Amino acid sequence: MAEFDLGASFIPALHKPSALLPIAKHRDSLLYLIETNPVTIVVGQTGSGKTTQIPQFLEQAGWCEDGKVLAITQPRRVAATTVAIRVAEEYGCELGKEVGYSIRFEDVSSAATRVRFLTDGLLIREALVDPLLSRYSVIMVDEAHERSISTDILLGLLKKIMKRRPELRIVISSATLQAEEFLRFFDSHDAEGMTLVGNETKPAGAIISLEGRTYPIDVLYLDSPAEDYVEKAVETVLNIHTDEAEGDILVFLTGREEIDNAVRMISERAADLRPGSQSILVLPLYAGLSTEQQMYVFEEAPENTRKIIISTNIAEASVTIDGIVYVIDSGFVKLKAFNPTTGIESLTATPVSKAAASQRAGRAGRTKPGKCFRLYTEDDYRALPDMNVPEIQRTNLAPFILQLKALGIDNVVRFNYLTPPPAELLSKATELLYSLGALDEYAKLTKPLGMRMAELAVEPMMAKTLLTASSFGCLSEILTVAAMTSLGGSVWVQRDGEKKQLESTRRKFAAEEGDHLTLLNVYHTFVGKGKKESRFCHDNSLNFKAMTRAVSIRAQLKRYLERFGIQVDESLKLSSPATSDQIRRCLTTGYFAHAARMQPDGSFQNVAGGTTLYAHPSSLMFNRKADWVIFHEVMETGNKTYIRDITKIEKGWLLEYSAGFYHLRQ
Ligand code: ADP
Ligand code: MG
Repeated sequence: MAEFDLGASFIPALHKPSALLPIAKHRDSLLYLIETNPVTIVVGQTGSGKTTQIPQFLEQAGWCEDGKVLAITQPRRVAATTVAIRVAEEYGCELGKEVGYSIRFEDVSSAATRVRFLTDGLLIREALVDPLLSRYSVIMVDEAHERSISTDILLGLLKKIMKRRPELRIVISSATLQAEEFLRFFDSHDAEGMTLVGNETKPAGAIISLEGRTYPIDVLYLDSPAEDYVEKAVETVLNIHTDEAEGDILVFLTGREEIDNAVRMISERAADLRPGSQSILVLPLYAGLSTEQQMYVFEEAPENTRKIIISTNIAEASVTIDGIVYVIDSGFVKLKAFNPTTGIESLTATPVSKAAASQRAGRAGRTKPGKCFRLYTEDDYRALPDMNVPEIQRTNLAPFILQLKALGIDNVVRFNYLTPPPAELLSKATELLYSLGALDEYAKLTKPLGMRMAELAVEPMMAKTLLTASSFGCLSEILTVAAMTSLGGSVWVQRDGEKKQLESTRRKFAAEEGDHLTLLNVYHTFVGKGKKESRFCHDNSLNFKAMTRAVSIRAQLKRYLERFGIQVDESLKLSSPATSDQIRRCLTTGYFAHAARMQPDGSFQNVAGGTTLYAHPSSLMFNRKADWVIFHEVMETGNKTYIRDITKIEKGWLLEYSAGFYHLRQ
């Protein structure tokens, strides 16, 4: 079938799948195993071709006949997009045709799509409309070893679905040797005491290992701990550049801020290097970049130029970059951590696991012998945990409990977990969902509120805010706020040396009540006076792409609401816009759990106590007076906990709208 695909013959493939990839010689045995086993677990190092080749093998072998689709899930949005772009190129089709991707708020797929890359979270959401995921013939759960909470939940669902769909094939790809654990999971009887497909003596699955060729890697440690790993990483890059032979460098840091700093520091200091030496090209890689910017890292550097990529752990396994000879490992990764006492979830820089450290080092030895510089001591290394704690044991479970309930899994304690979450996290999530009105006192999903909250593509607190907005007469405004806070990055851009300009434009849009209303002003001006033009964004230090995305997200959220029968009358808004009071009260109905009070020293204390929070420098509340506030999210940088997108509220509203949440904890 696919051999003579007409579409493919007209568009020349830019990149032919390389016959040299380690996976090529395993093609037949791989297809045989998938044909004969409900579950196939594929183990192989990063770069062996699992993500880009297996879907194409399956498509060629006829798994997409009769309109069936292949789903390949990724824990990260970035991976879903970059990999889809690559596979579409290899396949020789336009992105979104035979090969496409879908991530939250961005669907680049069509009725023609046979190979669909998507986040595992999105596939769980799809099960709400199609509980057996019946359009898919094969579901490949990629990067399963990362154990993101969505991956874990998806695996639990698939184990259920398998029983009803014996023809479904599941492929699990894992970069490290956690294969046995996955196999045991699918082989074991689940908590409901039911048995698996087929006869019981036959195991449900098989493991295949694609051992690839690797070159030796020299691992080097520091003699004494680094005080500042960003500074140390920058120094190490420059030392490698002056002292070591040719080869690109990959640096692992934890987040956007650090990466942007490092890129700037390296570029500045490289200017002082003696002339005549090879030049450098420094590129960032993190989730907040546009797809275009992310694609730069795959391009070959110009002649006589050393490519230096500064990345989050995206480059650890999710995306493969060729030509890396040197790896610099900060030893840290940003992980979600939920504190059940304070109810606050944040992203915190955490030491990596041994498994992750070896994965990072492995990025250096793909094309020739490499070196890995670990920015910690050998003793520090020995003290690292073998594996990271799975996300399901350290995250806010509320969004997942809501989805499980919506999928009809009422007893969330007895769900098929790969690793069960701690009881404390389960009860915390249930308590929050109850206060938000999504669950009733028997912990059953409420209708329609709870059901709709599960369906909306935003987290439960924002979902509640949106679904209550019409009763406060501010639906149009809240739609905008929801879109602007769902961007996953800032709308502001600070160009070099234009800090002053950024501050003065921000002041222009500032609302005294805080960030949410400021975002609203920005959006209104962009779509009104700004005519949705890039010129306007440029003049106002705004990110045009982000603003355009906000317009599209808003339209998508509006469609959800209309499907629920909630009408959004925008025309009315012109004559009677909602008051700041209405908007802030409405925000409180969703975000009461994220309330804090300003202390005399200008920091904030959350209601449950125990945590000191600081307004993020990007917030209007930075260095301003306030009393009670609610905030959108928390992030940790260095050893400070910052809150972002902050709005002033009245204490009385908290009690009025939190349905006993604060009373409950007494
Ligand atoms: P795995 O999933 O086993 O880690 P991949 O299928 O992602 O491996 O990658 C296989 C090979 O394809 C890589 O070694 C690299 O050479 C190439 N490759 C993958 N993605 C891209 C891309 N976006 N751009 C250029 N080359 C890529
Ligand atoms: Mg992969």
